[in-house]
Amino acid sequence: MRLRDKHGRDITDLRVSITDRCNYKCVYCRTGNEGAVYSELPFADYLRMVRIFVGLGIEKVRLTGGEPLLRGGIVEFVRSIAQLRTLSGETPDIAVTTNGHLLADMAQPLKDAGLRRATISMDAVDAEKFARITRVANGFNNVLAGIRAAKRAGLEPVKVNCVLLRGFNENQVVEFARFSREEGVVVRFIERLQRARRQHGSSSICPEAAQRSVREAARNRATTPLSPRPCRPSGGSSPASRP
Ligand code: SF4
Repeated sequence: MRLRDKHGRDITDLRVSITDRCNYKCVYCRTGNEGAVYSELPFADYLRMVRIFVGLGIEKVRLTGGEPLLRGGIVEFVRSIAQLRTLSGETPDIAVTTNGHLLADMAQPLKDAGLRRATISMDAVDAEKFARITRVANGFNNVLAGIRAAKRAGLEPVKVNCVLLRGFNENQVVEFARFSREEGVVVRFIERLQRARRQHGSSSICPEAAQRSVREAARNRATTPLSPRPCRPSGGSSPASRP
């Protein structure tokens, strides 16, 4: 039996939140504002669930949190998932979404254990703005080191997800475009979930507005060559939203 949605499409992607804890306190985030609410299961239980889902057609497993790298034992967990086989006999495609704070030291061990890709949440390419959003001092350099370590380890493509917030980082679009080119990473401007918007106020800027800024910058040759691409339709399978 395969997992299918109501339109008959195969469900192949699974996201597993292995902790609700985080070492950042992002202004727009439930975890950042309330701390960990949900308890953690032992890794053996997560592995059992992943094994069952892989047996039902899951091919890609993304580990998330909170901040998943806070969870001791994650390297062994990745190694265990990498030993599973999909219905077509392949190793599952394992990815992680992280704030990157601990990634500098963990990128290579995770890669060696079987991790293939990393997505790093990063809301500013400016240390002061970054600290205002995360409410943690001196995090920016750690995240930058984490991104570079992910590149060195070959966790490609390294993707950077950014939530644009009015009054915080709305003027970072062109800087992110430049950062994307200089660091060789894929930057995506994402929206927060409706629920988080309702609960925690500060309004995020839609990806279309970010795209307009990039288009404008390209026209003004602030950063060239830039080429805006169409946004994904909302409601698609994009993982690009924050709690
Ligand atoms: S948005 Fe991500 S990095 Fe920020 S507090 Fe929430 S879980 Fe942590």
